[in-house]
Amino acid sequence: MNGVQIGMKLRIDCCNRKDDTLNKDIYLATFKNSYGEDWWFDYNEENDMGILWGVDVDYKHFYVFDGICSRLIFDPEEKEWLKTVWNTYSKNKNIYLNDTEIQHNNKYTYLTKNYCPICLQQKNTFENHHCVPSSEGGSDDYVNRLIICNSCHSLITNGCYEDRYPRFLTAVYHQSYVYGIDFYTMNPKNNKRYKKDTGLYKQRPFIKKMIETYNELDVNEQIDFNKKIKQESLYYYKYFRSIVKNIITENLE
Ligand SMILES: [Zn+2]
Repeated sequence: MNGVQIGMKLRIDCCNRKDDTLNKDIYLATFKNSYGEDWWFDYNEENDMGILWGVDVDYKHFYVFDGICSRLIFDPEEKEWLKTVWNTYSKNKNIYLNDTEIQHNNKYTYLTKNYCPICLQQKNTFENHHCVPSSEGGSDDYVNRLIICNSCHSLITNGCYEDRYPRFLTAVYHQSYVYGIDFYTMNPKNNKRYKKDTGLYKQRPFIKKMIETYNELDVNEQIDFNKKIKQESLYYYKYFRSIVKNIITENLE
C-alpha cells in the first residue's frame, strides 16, 4: 500500500527493523495471500500503533498508524485485510489517547487538562514553543506556537540529537496535522524579518512545491489535498511521538 505522499516524506527509511527475537506465535491476526505468503499483525494500544511482519519482507517489522503502513505496497487482497484488522483492533479513537483535546486562542495552540502534545504526559510547567524556529522564518501565529511541557522544550532547545530531533518533528507534524496547508502558508508570511525564499522554504524546497501545487488546484481538489496533508501529518505525528515515548526505538541517522 502506498501511503499518501505529498512531498513531506521524511526519513521513513528508518521505519523498519529486523527483530530476531520476534515471537511469531504472538499476533492478533494473520493472513495468507494468494501466493501462499503469510502476514501477521499485532497492535499496541498505548500508542494506537499496529505492527506488521511477513514472509515476503523477511519478517521485518513495519509500523502501522491509522491503518497505513507507508513503506509497503500491497495487493488489493492484502490491503483489504489490513483495513479489516485495523478497524477490528484499533481501539483509540482519541488521537491523544487520553481525555484531552486540542484548542487554540489567537496566540497559541494547546491541549486541555495540562497534557503535553509531545510526551503526552500531564505536567505542571509549560512553555511556548515555535515549531518552525524564528531563525527559519517561523511566525508568531498560533499555528506555529504550541504549548509543550518545559522538559520537552528544554530537550528541543538543548537536548542531544536523539532527544531533540523526534520532539522537534513531533511538534511540526502535530501542527501540520491540525492546520494542514495553513501551517505552511501562514508561517513565513506574517514574519517581516524573513523573505519567503529564505529560512523554512530555502531549506525545505518540497514545502514551496507543495504550496505551488495546492495553489494550482480548484477548490474541491484543494479540500482533498488538505485532507491528505492532515492525514499524512497525523501518521508522522504518531510515528515520531512513538519514538519520543520509546515505543519505537530507532537510530534516526
Ligand atoms: Zn512533554
